[in-house]
Amino acid sequence: MTGEPLVRVRDLGKVFRSRASGFLVPPLETKAVDGVSFDIARGETLGLVGESGCGKTTTGRMVVRLLDPSMGSIRFDGAEISGLAGKALRDLRRDLQIVFQDPMSSLNPRMTAGELIVEPLVVHGVGDNASRQKRLRELIDIVGLLPHHAARFPHEFSGGQRQRIGIARALALSPRFLVLDEAVSALDVSIQAQILNLLQDLRAELSLTYLFISHDLGVIRFICDRVAVMYLGEIVEIADRAALFAAPRHPYTQALLASIPEVGVGKRRFQPLTGDVPSASNPPPGCRFNTRCPHVMDVCRSVRPKLAAVGAGHEAACHLLGPAHQTGPAG
Ligand code: SF4
Repeated sequence: MTGEPLVRVRDLGKVFRSRASGFLVPPLETKAVDGVSFDIARGETLGLVGESGCGKTTTGRMVVRLLDPSMGSIRFDGAEISGLAGKALRDLRRDLQIVFQDPMSSLNPRMTAGELIVEPLVVHGVGDNASRQKRLRELIDIVGLLPHHAARFPHEFSGGQRQRIGIARALALSPRFLVLDEAVSALDVSIQAQILNLLQDLRAELSLTYLFISHDLGVIRFICDRVAVMYLGEIVEIADRAALFAAPRHPYTQALLASIPEVGVGKRRFQPLTGDVPSASNPPPGCRFNTRCPHVMDVCRSVRPKLAAVGAGHEAACHLLGPAHQTGPAG
């Protein structure tokens, strides 16, 4: 990667605190995200993949500042944005947008598609009615809807069309960066392909940069340039797409690949995942994957492995990969 990345995240963390359930019972702390770091180059799509509850959605929401980080740094286009508030944060939102998984629950059912798409312009006070209607026609066209769709309500659309409305709405303010949070997960496979192709085209046409969050490695393989694999709040491997799918180095990535029939072909030497993800409020000491790893060693139960290079642009966090991956007791 050359030049300043558009997004640079360092040691990002989020702690959720539950309410104390009694006088003698302190609030429960859950580190949903714990020390996550990555860069996203301009025009790149970084995939963030992992099982449900691994912290990928929390990470995405922090990056677009829908959630406040508990620790760490987020730089966007060279400027620190993790502590922004008030007008500076509202101005930033024009550049950073998010598309959610379920357009039916994220779109107000009482607003027409046209009203939903121009709403961000209204909220940010951009343009007058005439210029907003012009922008609406442009947005409807670039996401592949038809002009008469503007007068319809969300329940009158198919799932794929509703997601096109969600994308048009996210593009209304001409952002430079989109977080796509399970943006095709609720759709049928054939519709998924249409929306993924649309996202690819839009990225090229509008010079967009994406953080693409998904639990689905097939989708990740289709659309992402690089992939970060998360487990229990941490990134355990990050690599170019080709390297990750051809030669995964972390046992968790290997297990994820072996678990997916279409992707797992040729990966049969790896064992699929077994067991459940431990609770993020009480993660195992040492390597967080140690309760499910087929290669677990004594050191894994006490020393937390560090993300370190295993190839060009390829990092993984596992004691099997050598002493560079050691941090210290409990990490
Ligand atoms: Fe498995 Fe140990 Fe590597 Fe963790 S550090 S993935 S438990 S071998």
